[in-house]
Amino acid sequence: MSKFKGLESYAAEDSAYELLPFKFDRFNDESYIITNIVGEYLLIEHEDLEALVHRKLDVTSRLYCQLRSKHFIRLPKEKSPIELLALKLRTKLSRLSQFTNLHIFVVTLRCDHSCPYCQVSRQSEDKSSFDMTRDMADKSLDFVFRSPSPAIKIEFQGGEPLLNFELIKYIVESAESRNRVAARDLAFVIATTLSLINDEILDFCKLHKIQISTSLDGPEALHNSNRPKPNKDSHQRFVAGLEKARARLGYDQISALMTTTELSLDKVKEIIDEYLRLGFKGVFLRPLSPYGFAIKTKRFMAYNTERWLQFYKSGLDYIIELNRNGVEFSEYYSSLILKKILSAQESGYVDLMSPAGIGIAAIVFNYDGKVYASDESRMLAEMGDRTFELGNILSDSYEDIILSDKLLDALEESFTLSAPMCSECAFEPYCGSEPVYHHAIHKDFLGRKPESEFCKKNMSIFKHLISLMESSSDTKKLFLGWANR
Ligand code: SF4
Repeated sequence: MSKFKGLESYAAEDSAYELLPFKFDRFNDESYIITNIVGEYLLIEHEDLEALVHRKLDVTSRLYCQLRSKHFIRLPKEKSPIELLALKLRTKLSRLSQFTNLHIFVVTLRCDHSCPYCQVSRQSEDKSSFDMTRDMADKSLDFVFRSPSPAIKIEFQGGEPLLNFELIKYIVESAESRNRVAARDLAFVIATTLSLINDEILDFCKLHKIQISTSLDGPEALHNSNRPKPNKDSHQRFVAGLEKARARLGYDQISALMTTTELSLDKVKEIIDEYLRLGFKGVFLRPLSPYGFAIKTKRFMAYNTERWLQFYKSGLDYIIELNRNGVEFSEYYSSLILKKILSAQESGYVDLMSPAGIGIAAIVFNYDGKVYASDESRMLAEMGDRTFELGNILSDSYEDIILSDKLLDALEESFTLSAPMCSECAFEPYCGSEPVYHHAIHKDFLGRKPESEFCKKNMSIFKHLISLMESSSDTKKLFLGWANR
């Protein structure tokens, strides 16, 4: 005789479970997706969904156990599922209380490149009126150290920020000096094409543990046509700079970003192969943003979201195949989303945050003293739309800027949990609001989601990643690794 009673002896009565809040949507011809507020998901068939909502589920079924363990249902008066949901939600939203982490200093608008898709309206190399002054830098640092965040990252952007390297040195040394008292976890990043890197800059980066974020669009011909220079040597200078920087700073101190132009669309394998050839461990497949020169030169309209999704999906297939063959390589946008789907953590990626990350996760100090809610906001301002210009660092206080109606209105209106369509969308726990993008295209913070390319792109990626995981346990294992990195 068994020591234990059968499973049914421990089960509650058939109709005795209660539903916890969840959203659902048709996933494909066979199934529905259900998600809850912390992003747990399950794919279930239509009859199971019916049985679930009518409280007719077989309490000895695997589905019933899954639904309980993922907090879609609870037994009457059971407290722990609600407490666990609250705990997971607090963990996901914990970044909010830490406030602004990323502070972007646009130290110059000058640039030695003339990329047609450039998101800022670059100026030629010799116009120093497009440089940030020391006074602005000091006032910006006053602002930075008002942030309550225990971790502060200062990122130098341009133009080409190395054209104003003297100011970078000044800001790094001043920030470190202030941090002797402030005691934050302080980090620096320079976003550069590497074309101007030299020993003096690298020595300084080494001494101050400065990371490099650079740009690689693919193999030589593609990179050079995307990033024109008078000598057509952008890729050559990139490779030489990369080798130098890695030798001096170490491999893990340099990361790269790529931008997809129409020339990239049929070359996703070649782009990934180039990243592999140059020793990178992953690639961030990014579409063009509708800002700055990308829109002025009509490059943004050169391909639509469907075409970019084909590019992304075939790139992802190729990366999965590489991993199956023992080559460790990841796709970073997928990894950010998978972190939201498969872990209790938030990725902290500004474009996929709700409330939006503008101002409260990242903020920009422009070369002319203006303060913007995000990098994209300053690009929008360069096009004449100053909606997200929060103030001027020379004349406005921290409170004037952070509590400005411009910022608070945009944040308030962009909550996905209360936005039309998003609030009922099963993918909302993985998504963000992107008020700057929607304002650029639709002229309001929310946008019209049925027409939104942001919505179309992300919904398609969420579905695709979940489909891939559901159809292969190897892929799920791989994705779990990406999510928990
Ligand atoms: S933007 Fe689209 S995918 Fe994202 S939550 Fe809103 S409706 Fe869903």
